[in-house]
Amino acid sequence: TSARVAAIPPTVFSRMSALATATGAVNLGQGFPDTDGPASVVDQAVAALRSGHNQYSPGVGTAGLRRAIAAHQWAHYGITVDPETEVVVTTGATEAIAGALLGLVDPGDEVVALEPFYDSYAAMTAFAGGVLKGVPLRAPDFRLDPDDLRAAITRRTKVLLVNTPHNPTGTVLNREELELLARVAVEHDLVVVTDEVYEHLVYTGHEHVPLATLPGMAERTLTLSSVGKSFSLTGWKVGWATGPAELVSAVLGAKQWLSFTSGAPLQPAVAWALEHAQDWPAALARDLEARRDLLCDGLDALGLPTRRPEGTYFAVSDIRRLGWSDGLEFCLALPERAGVVAIPLQGFYATGSRDGEQLVRWAFCKEPAVLEEGLRRLGAAD
Ligand code: PMP
Ligand code: GLN
Repeated sequence: TSARVAAIPPTVFSRMSALATATGAVNLGQGFPDTDGPASVVDQAVAALRSGHNQYSPGVGTAGLRRAIAAHQWAHYGITVDPETEVVVTTGATEAIAGALLGLVDPGDEVVALEPFYDSYAAMTAFAGGVLKGVPLRAPDFRLDPDDLRAAITRRTKVLLVNTPHNPTGTVLNREELELLARVAVEHDLVVVTDEVYEHLVYTGHEHVPLATLPGMAERTLTLSSVGKSFSLTGWKVGWATGPAELVSAVLGAKQWLSFTSGAPLQPAVAWALEHAQDWPAALARDLEARRDLLCDGLDALGLPTRRPEGTYFAVSDIRRLGWSDGLEFCLALPERAGVVAIPLQGFYATGSRDGEQLVRWAFCKEPAVLEEGLRRLGAAD
C-alpha cells in the first residue's frame, strides 16, 4: 500500500456497514434508503440497457443528461449553465469531489471545509497534495461562526469547500451564513466548491439556497450534486458538477484519468428522472420529515438529546447522558449490546479536532417500522 493511501484512515462507513451485516443489527449507519426510488425511473434504465446504451458514453456525459441537469438548475434555482461547456457528468458526487480537488488544488494549497465533513473531502485533498483546514460547526446548533471562518483563511487558501444541506449535522445554511461565505470568497478570491447532494431533502421552515445564486458567486462556484439522494438511487452513482467552463473543465481534466466516462445506461434514465419525475424528491422530503420526527422524538425519550436536522438523512445525538463519552466506543459496542448500528462523528473529522467525540449520527432514511425497531432495541438495551 502506498504511503498516500496508508496515511488515510479507512472510511468509517465500510467498517460500520460490515459490522451491521456481521451482527444482523438494524443499520442506522450508512446513509442509504431501504426503499428504492421511482419504478418509472428504474424502467427507463432497463429500457436503456435493452436498447443499446451499453458502450462508452462521452466522457463529459451524454448530451441529454447534460441538458437535463442544466434545465434542473434553471427550473429550481434560476441558475443558467450551458450544457455544452458548463456541465460534467461524474460517477457519483464522490467523483465530482475527487475531480474538483484533483483538478483545482496544487500541492501546498489550502482547502477550507466546514468540519465535520463527508470523509472523502479529507482523502481527496490529501491525494491532491493540499492541506485541509476545518471551520467548526459546533454542537449543539452546528451553525457557522464568522470568526471561525475568517480564522481558517490564509494567503494559501485556494478552495472553499461547502456542503449544504450538511452531512453529518443536518444543518441547512441560512441566508446570513451563505452571504458570509460569499463575502469571504469574493474578498479572498477563492474558488468555491459546494456539495449540494441533499439539495431536495430540506424540511419545513428551511430552504436550500445554492451558493451559486448569491452575488459574485456564479463566476467562482462549482456546484456538485447527484441522483442518489434526490431519487433514492444511491447505488447508481451518477453525479455532476456545474459552473463556469474553466472550473468544469478542471473537473473533466481529472475525471478523464479517473473513470474516463460514467455508466452509459443510467444516464438516459437520470435525464428522464430530472425531466419527468421533478415532483418526486419533494414528496420524498415530506416522508423523510415524518421519519426524522419519529427518530428524534424516540432518541430524546431514551436520554439521547438529538438535534432536529433541517435537511439530509441524518440526526446527531449527544451520548453523555447515557454515561458514554466516546462515540467510537459507543458505536462499536452498540451492535452487540443493542443490535443497532450508528456512525461515530469522529469519522467526519480529520484535522485533529475533538469536537465530535461525544456525538453519533443516525440515518432516518429507513422504513418507519425499521426506525421503530431500532428505537425498541435501544430502549431494551442495558
Ligand atoms: N457528498 C455528501 C455530503 C454525501 O453525504 C454523499 C453521500 N455518500 C456524497 C457526497 C456522495 O454522493 P454519491 O453517492 O453521489 O457519490
Ligand atoms: N453519504 C452517505 C453517508 O454519509 C454514504 C457514505 C458513503 O457511501 N461513503 O452515510
